[in-house]
Amino acid sequence: MKERSHLYAEMNKERSKIMAKSKLPTAEDIRIGDRIVVTIKRLGINGEGVGYYRKKAVFIPGALPDEVVKAKVTRIEPSYIHAALVDVEKTSPDRQKPPCPVYEQCGGCQLQHLAYPAQLRAKEDIVREAFRRYTGLDDLPLKPILGMDDPWGYRNKAQLQVGVREGRVVTGLYSPGSHKLVDISGCPIQHPGVNETIDAARAVVEELRIPIYREKQREGCLRTIVARVGRASGEVQLTFITATRELPHRAELISRIRKRLPKVTTIAQNINSADTPLIFGEKTIILWGKERLDESLGQVQFSLSPRAFFQLNPEQTVKLYNAVRDAAALTGEELVVDAYCGTGTIGLWLAPQAREVRGVEIIPEATLDARRNAALSGADNARFYVGQAERLLPEWVRQGVRPDVIVVDPPRTGCDRKLLQAVIQARPQRLVYVSCNPSTLAKDCKVLLDGGFRLASVQPVDMFPHTSHVECCSLLIRNEK
Ligand code: SAH
Repeated sequence: MKERSHLYAEMNKERSKIMAKSKLPTAEDIRIGDRIVVTIKRLGINGEGVGYYRKKAVFIPGALPDEVVKAKVTRIEPSYIHAALVDVEKTSPDRQKPPCPVYEQCGGCQLQHLAYPAQLRAKEDIVREAFRRYTGLDDLPLKPILGMDDPWGYRNKAQLQVGVREGRVVTGLYSPGSHKLVDISGCPIQHPGVNETIDAARAVVEELRIPIYREKQREGCLRTIVARVGRASGEVQLTFITATRELPHRAELISRIRKRLPKVTTIAQNINSADTPLIFGEKTIILWGKERLDESLGQVQFSLSPRAFFQLNPEQTVKLYNAVRDAAALTGEELVVDAYCGTGTIGLWLAPQAREVRGVEIIPEATLDARRNAALSGADNARFYVGQAERLLPEWVRQGVRPDVIVVDPPRTGCDRKLLQAVIQARPQRLVYVSCNPSTLAKDCKVLLDGGFRLASVQPVDMFPHTSHVECCSLLIRNEK
């Protein structure tokens, strides 16, 4: 008996040892600062690695799919954890040294540590995952993403903050969540003409000792330098954004810029004296040269004032708009509504194949630009209306207007619910949904799928290589009834 109880005691001891060993922490036990080892499954919508720890999603910036990483927990939420990358234990074959020397500090790009072909695959996955999650669709009609042959030097505009460091004038971007200005001269995703313009402008500002604005003291003059190149025209528009109307050494500034930068066709000053995160102020003065920058995409002509919005990657914009045109499949008979039309670009792209185009845009200034662009491009079948798409479309439907094709291209937050309902009521044959946010796209598609449409295709386009952004052109076709 004794022996036997001894045996049991031994067994119990052994068992509790095993139990103790197997008593790994659950996600509930986890604390900030803990180190965890995670296998990365995919990239999240912000370019971070996503894996699971005890069934909870973990977001780890800098980690890549198929990697095994050690990470330190930085934030714990009921359904997910944030962690900082400590060490990569198993490295992805697609991991590369980021070409840009200030990649880590700048924050403008999120994927330079991933080879470009793998970036494209990861973006397709982001889209697939968003639809799986919000629509339950597993057999998504996803087309291969349209990438760039040369994914560098694509960005046609830079808006750089100006600061002073050790007596030198510096232009750059503020590191995310900090007030540290990161010098991004020579940024590899900017068009070389943009970099050249900013560098020369910075040097002239330094030579002339133009006072730089100091935010804390609210003193000084120059805040931001903006350079934009017209890809088709080769023209350059240069804007100095100042806190004061007075711009010291103005004449000399103009003359030196003109001498050094023969491609500059506009030198402008914009005044922003407010304490605001908005870059541009209301007032723009042309200091020298043309009022507007000429640009064209395909057959469509644009004339851009310094503040006017324009797509940042013209080469990929053409691919995106061609995808919209293919999806719209126009015959010349259709009434097309371009909701969220901005400066009218998509509507004007489609106008030659449509009977009529109606654009809707909430910003009056953009609508004026849209009308101007329509006139320049000879699109006399395009009209542009100021207003909220979710108000105008239902009004038109009530009046008996029946659009054949509706195009939406909403901000990142997606379409207003009322607009989706109006689209369902308007019963267009086709809806072309252009989106820069796969999550809101998929959520809105769910509403439309329930409202009588089916998803015919999703075409991702890489508008911003090396960042986590992915644009999609989706075609929804109304089910016959
Ligand atoms: N299609 C354009 C611009 C898309 S950006 C292009 O390709 O260039 C989205 C646009 O929607 C912005 O111009 C924004 O001002 C506009 N917008 C935002 N909310 C809106 C609303 N409720 N109704 C109409 N337009 C809106």
